[in-house]
Amino acid sequence: MPRPPASPFLLLDVDGPLNPFHAAPHDCPAGFAPHRMSPGWLLPGPDGAPARPVEVRLDPSHGARLLGLGYDLVWATGWQADANTWIAPRIGLPPLPHVPFADIRAWRPDGTCAKTWEIVSWAAGRPFAWVDDDIDEADRAFVAARHPGPALLHRVHPARGLRDEDFELLAAWAAGPGAAVRG
Ligand SMILES: [Mg+2]
Repeated sequence: MPRPPASPFLLLDVDGPLNPFHAAPHDCPAGFAPHRMSPGWLLPGPDGAPARPVEVRLDPSHGARLLGLGYDLVWATGWQADANTWIAPRIGLPPLPHVPFADIRAWRPDGTCAKTWEIVSWAAGRPFAWVDDDIDEADRAFVAARHPGPALLHRVHPARGLRDEDFELLAAWAAGPGAAVRG
């Protein structure tokens, strides 16, 4: 029996795609609800005062929609493992693996996002789609040069978050180029 084909990875940023943090308070996209959170990555205030909670807008329908796309879901976010504590339960996702980032705030001299090098290394040639609000042409060029498998780098606007057209694009890619070299 041949082994069943592997699905492509879907690498998920939190702030931007799942949390439209750039939306004005009076203009939060439909379907999103605000939450107050105190994840471990928040930096303390002046003089070591406790960090103020951060507001995170989430759409509770996103988990089921992401799970139905035909990918293996993986966090690719500065939240790292905290995403399983604070984000996953509120949108209906199970705990997911995460790409470990050594320094999420360090932008590279070549202009690539701090995540890009580590995502390419972590994926090790397996097809992946990556949704993030910080993707630009430097990231696309780096992935095209260094990642031997199919890849979809999809920028999501941080004032809008994932929308119907984004889910449609991701589903089509998983069923097409992302699936073409499975196995
Ligand atoms: Mg982001």
